[in-house]
Amino acid sequence: MQDFVSRGGKIEYRRIEERDIRPLVARFDLLVVSTGKGPLGQLFTYRPEHTPYSQPQRRLCVGLYTGVRQPDPMNVTLSVSPGHGEMIVIPTITFGGVANALLMENVPGGDMEELATLSYDDNPKHFLKVLLGKLEKHHPTTYDRIDTARFDLAQPQDLLQGGVVPTVRNTVVEFDDGKCAIALGDVHAIVDPMMGQGANVASYAAFVLGEEIVNADACDARLCEKIDLKRQDRVLAASRWTNVMLQPPTEALGMLIGAMSQNPALANEFTENFNYPDRQWDRISTPQRIQAWIARMSAPSEPVRAIA
Ligand SMILES: Cc1cc2nc3c(=O)[nH]c(=O)nc-3n(C[C@H](O)[C@H](O)[C@H](O)COP(=O)(O)OP(=O)(O)OC[C@H]3O[C@@H](n4cnc5c(N)ncnc54)[C@H](O)[C@@H]3O)c2cc1C
Repeated sequence: MQDFVSRGGKIEYRRIEERDIRPLVARFDLLVVSTGKGPLGQLFTYRPEHTPYSQPQRRLCVGLYTGVRQPDPMNVTLSVSPGHGEMIVIPTITFGGVANALLMENVPGGDMEELATLSYDDNPKHFLKVLLGKLEKHHPTTYDRIDTARFDLAQPQDLLQGGVVPTVRNTVVEFDDGKCAIALGDVHAIVDPMMGQGANVASYAAFVLGEEIVNADACDARLCEKIDLKRQDRVLAASRWTNVMLQPPTEALGMLIGAMSQNPALANEFTENFNYPDRQWDRISTPQRIQAWIARMSAPSEPVRAIA
């Protein structure tokens, strides 16, 4: 942000209302919209073909907690309680030092769901007691890392509860004078946080957008089209991959998970592909692709030939 200001950019902090849209369009060559909430987001209509759900598929309860031992080496873990949901434990730097984010992805109707609405503020002790009981039952490998005497939110406000409706929107609106608004980040594609893809693809798309603007002769509909074509494979792949993972695993995905447990190279590539959701989607979008990937990664490597 300092770089932006030192190059002549101006940062204003204020709430954007509906009446601000026209003046903003008139003031700038191109309006980049990265807030889906309120009137700005409503400029962009849904793409039903990429928006399969109308309700959140997980009821989220995420908080920053003290009293959770870090694994050695420090890493991110994911555990699954079939029918009840997933939990991701992420080491996180907080105001009080390193703590852990516990992200609970609770299946609607499952035993963990009440955590998405249970109030911490009303009765912190009760909240922690219920939470510990559920973790012991559904995510015992995390429960085993908890020092129950020290277990608490890092700060009382470090709790987020709710749900996300995965949504992909059209990204460009052209106004009468030929000027455009283009969507970026969650307003373009919002994904459930299960695979940690939202900020990942938002920042990728921001880089694409920035590079295209720098190289553009005009900030017009053609520029927006180019930006869209360049970023859409990765953004859509993140959305499709996440949406598939929200469903119970297909037979082929179950096979992949089993194969990864026996094949570290396969598991490593799956993990690396969190950085490249388009590659992940290339690997897993159909049973044929999954089978081909497993077969390729299971083939014995070519013997090394000595050359005299
Ligand atoms: C529980 C959870 C865990 C997540 N974990 C991960 C993860 O591990 N990895 C990952 O990549 N992504 C993760 N995400 C997703 C990630 O947080 C989002 O994808 C990312 O923040 C999107 O960035 P954005 O800039 O598009 O929107 P936002 O970060 O939502 O920013 C929008 C901004 O606009 C402001 N705003 C809203 N309305 C107005 C208005 N009317 N006027 C002015 N300003 C306004 C808001 O205050 C906000 O600052 C997670 C999300 C959640 C909910």
